[in-house]
Amino acid sequence: MSEQSPHDGGCIFCRIIAGEIPCQKIIENQNILCFLDIGPVVVGHSLVIPKRHIRNIFDMPSEVAAAVAYELPALARAICAAVEAPACHILLNSGIEAMQSVHHAHYHIIPRKSDDSFFVPWRPGKLETQEAHNLISKIQKNYENMDEGLSA
Ligand code: 5GP
Ligand code: ZN
Repeated sequence: MSEQSPHDGGCIFCRIIAGEIPCQKIIENQNILCFLDIGPVVVGHSLVIPKRHIRNIFDMPSEVAAAVAYELPALARAICAAVEAPACHILLNSGIEAMQSVHHAHYHIIPRKSDDSFFVPWRPGKLETQEAHNLISKIQKNYENMDEGLSA
């Protein structure tokens, strides 16, 4: 994983953080910025971003993840209450194949209601036991070799 500077001049979200591009800001503190998504899939669709330029989950130090995650419950409650939504998705797209289009990590908060028009195509497959065992041992081996949380 590459070293990353705190800010990237070519990054649209870094430019929002720097105040060079406007946003509909909800909350800001020293670690995070929360603002309304410019193309909401439902009313209240918001983004929470670390102020440091981190590409996505694969490059995210644990302390950055912790700082963002710390704010998510209160933000989700406040946003969902504001639009009277009883449910929400918290979504962190990481990588182009996972539909990440802005390469500065961002958590989507997407309020959900029973009668909204947002649709997630989710078609469960079947978990085969042998495949599961092989996969788990691979993951466990990888995890043992991981650096603890990437250095800050
Ligand atoms: P991704 O597909 O990378 O997970 O999501 C990127 C999100 O950022 C999209 O939902 C898109 O509408 C939002 N977005 C992109 N550019 C801007 C911007 O300049 N301002 C705001 N507020 N949202 C943006
Ligand atoms: Zn950035």
